[in-house]
Amino acid sequence: LFEKVFSVKDLPSITPDGKAIELQLNAGLSQGFEHSKDSGAVGIGLYRTEIPFMDRSFFPSEQEQTLLYQNVLAAFPKQSVTMRTLDVGGDKSLPYFPINEDNPFLGWRGIRITLDHPEIFLVQVRAMMRANVGHGNLEIMLPMISSVSEVEEASRLINQAYYELSLELEETNDTPIVKPKVGIMIEVPSSIFQLKELAEKVDFFSVGSNDLTQYLLAVDRNNARVSNLYSSYHPSVLRALNMIAEQANQYLVPLSLCGELASEPAGALLLMAMGYDKLSMNPHNILRIKWVIRHVEFKRAKIILSHALTFSNAKQVHNYLNEQLEQLG
Ligand code: PEP
Ligand code: MG
Repeated sequence: LFEKVFSVKDLPSITPDGKAIELQLNAGLSQGFEHSKDSGAVGIGLYRTEIPFMDRSFFPSEQEQTLLYQNVLAAFPKQSVTMRTLDVGGDKSLPYFPINEDNPFLGWRGIRITLDHPEIFLVQVRAMMRANVGHGNLEIMLPMISSVSEVEEASRLINQAYYELSLELEETNDTPIVKPKVGIMIEVPSSIFQLKELAEKVDFFSVGSNDLTQYLLAVDRNNARVSNLYSSYHPSVLRALNMIAEQANQYLVPLSLCGELASEPAGALLLMAMGYDKLSMNPHNILRIKWVIRHVEFKRAKIILSHALTFSNAKQVHNYLNEQLEQLG
């Protein structure tokens, strides 16, 4: 199996009938980038900045963050690197920033924390933009967006950081700094009913299917007792994903998905049929997904999707998709 999958290593990620699907990496540590680049991925679709923050005893300074981000941006010249602003809270805590709550996944998490602490946010986005000088491949992504006002507030802070940095660099640097694209994670159910308004405020959407599944189904993504209820193939999740793709296409917003679903053959097949033409995943899944893409015609994937959307429970969807995948070899 490994050999079969490995055979697509240097081939493009494109279906037999010519539909290209861009594959990107999920990352959080800078180790292993070299290896990842070999897989045929194009840039980073999700850089989880909280990961380098976790293994420390205090918040990294602006300078430390700048160095860290420079390494990441430099490893992927001319390929986009999407850096997500700090997404702590929920299940991810920093030893030097304790949060005690009864219900952390519904509490102080992601953008909620950084908007309450603009000094943390400003330092981080300034460091990102500083690191981007001379590279120009940075995109910024906001996690846990549940309302339009959060996007407005975060964009205002990003503009402020951009303005401050432009003034500072004007004196020392000839090349004007570029304003990065700013996008949001679609992972809180409220956001999927305001896609039109959100589309007007951002440059891209990236669906976080891990959290979107958790919040749509009201099933903790880490609780073994209810793990049998947690499935991104639940018909309601699939319909939500399909609706997001339809609207993103309608409003002309570039769309990707960076949750675990993208790294599963059955998931990737459905997503590509829905219209997700960018998928971001852990490096070790890239070749497997590329193999699937190269072996399913896009028009066949669309037929499979329309059938998958008719089932009434996740198990049936899953069984049906596995049958279809087995037919591919
Ligand atoms: C997600 O929620 O699907 C996602 C990609 O982000 P994280 O797993 O870091 O919450
Ligand atoms: Mg998430």
